Amino acid sequence: MNIVMAASEAFPFCKTGGLADVVGALSQQLAGKKKNTVLLFLPHYRNIRQVSSLKVVPGVYYIPIGGKIEPVTLSYVNWGKVLVFFIGNRKYFDRPDLYRTKSGDYADNDERFIFFSRAVLEGCKFVGFRPDIIHCHDWQAGLIAAYLKTVYKLDAFFTRTRSLLTIHNIAYQGHFGYSSFEKAGFHPVDFIPSKFEYYGGMSFLKSGIVFADNINTVSPNYAKEVQTDPAMGFGLEGLLKYRRKNFYGIVNGIDTEVWDPEIDGLLPMGYDAATFSKNKPISKQQLQKTVGLQETAQKPLVGIVSRLDYQKGLDMALGVLEKLHGKAQFVVLGCGDPELEKQYKALAKKYPQDIAYIGKLDEALAHQIYAGADLFLMPSRYEPCGLSQMISMKYGTLPVVTKVGGLVDTVIGYKPGSDNAATTGFFIEKFSMAGIAGALETALSLYADKKLWNKLVKNAMLKDHSWDKSAQDYLDLYKKTIA
Ligand code: ADP
Repeated sequence: MNIVMAASEAFPFCKTGGLADVVGALSQQLAGKKKNTVLLFLPHYRNIRQVSSLKVVPGVYYIPIGGKIEPVTLSYVNWGKVLVFFIGNRKYFDRPDLYRTKSGDYADNDERFIFFSRAVLEGCKFVGFRPDIIHCHDWQAGLIAAYLKTVYKLDAFFTRTRSLLTIHNIAYQGHFGYSSFEKAGFHPVDFIPSKFEYYGGMSFLKSGIVFADNINTVSPNYAKEVQTDPAMGFGLEGLLKYRRKNFYGIVNGIDTEVWDPEIDGLLPMGYDAATFSKNKPISKQQLQKTVGLQETAQKPLVGIVSRLDYQKGLDMALGVLEKLHGKAQFVVLGCGDPELEKQYKALAKKYPQDIAYIGKLDEALAHQIYAGADLFLMPSRYEPCGLSQMISMKYGTLPVVTKVGGLVDTVIGYKPGSDNAATTGFFIEKFSMAGIAGALETALSLYADKKLWNKLVKNAMLKDHSWDKSAQDYLDLYKKTIA
């Protein structure tokens, strides 16, 4: 199958969140299967990591946008079996960050991703690759699905091409004004609510949902929530319900070449489900030392690795840390909301023995927290899938999570009084300070019961969160989409 992946980020080249992990790992998985050819298209940002030498495709092609013509230079790199193309245009992508500066989103994000979307389609022609499927990720690539059904509808090059749109987080929709619709070059008769129009402007994600042959999101439970709960659907619940026959839920996996405590070179000592009780404490001790916490094996250590954002519920967790510090230690790695950053910093300053806060992106420290902590706290208000809880389980660090989205699909919650034969973590029954504290207290109370604790850790570590099954699910959905 000829597969094109189109996304605004992919690990290890450029990353702001889980989207990058998913696009990178899924591309590799699909390319590893027989008969698949995978081309991954990304914007050529200023800081592309892990690429020492890009090769340039000779020539230039042009994209019409808002009455102007913008040039594209294509560069590429062979990344395993995936051919990665970087769409280059200095004006749009040669910037310090992917989407925004400290003071807000880039004002021309509409143009940047109109340009990107069209440049992917023209790029396929430029390199002579006819896709069977174009897999578009999030609003930044949503217009590709719309272009295929409108501007490119009669283009013989794409006769066979079908589209799948994956919604990684429905809260980010790419809303812009009417002028963006004009810049994109769609026909004015299509500016109607059943197609492009959205409250007088244009939504890139909505346009993708309207026009994509099939749509999915990143867990079955989130697929249900976004159709039925307005607080989860962010205004698109009606449209998704309307498209329910074409709307699927496929849970993400984690990249086990990056996330495996047995072979993780960032840990002082590797471990697996047979050796964790001996070797995992070494990671804990090292972590306490690295982040300046009191070095003790007695207190359970709770880790957080997260964007500091409304979605993640970490505003609500602040009071819980204040309440439970001493009974447990906390290490928080995360950045985002400047106000929350300030509050976590202050809390760590107040209780330096028990609370550590590191306000930056730090891949290595993230690995050390997943390995060194005993519990992992993730009190999300909503969570499309979530990778962190799966990573923490793989590292034998039991997740304490809210009962939302993909967290429900991936964690098996502790049930007092049952044999907990399959339990891998703890659920926060109600999103509130008391709810988070209650679930953590339950978990902490079991910490001394080493027999039970070790059983849960083993369950968590042995659960399969690899991409094997999910990549096959995507392939099956591609086949259905093409048929
Ligand atoms: P989201 O995509 O909503 O941010 P996910 O749980 O799906 O949440 O994925 C988050 C990813 O980003 C995980 O790989 C997590 O380890 C990583 N991450 C989040 N914050 C940091 C940080 N400060 N430093 C390093 N990695 C981080």
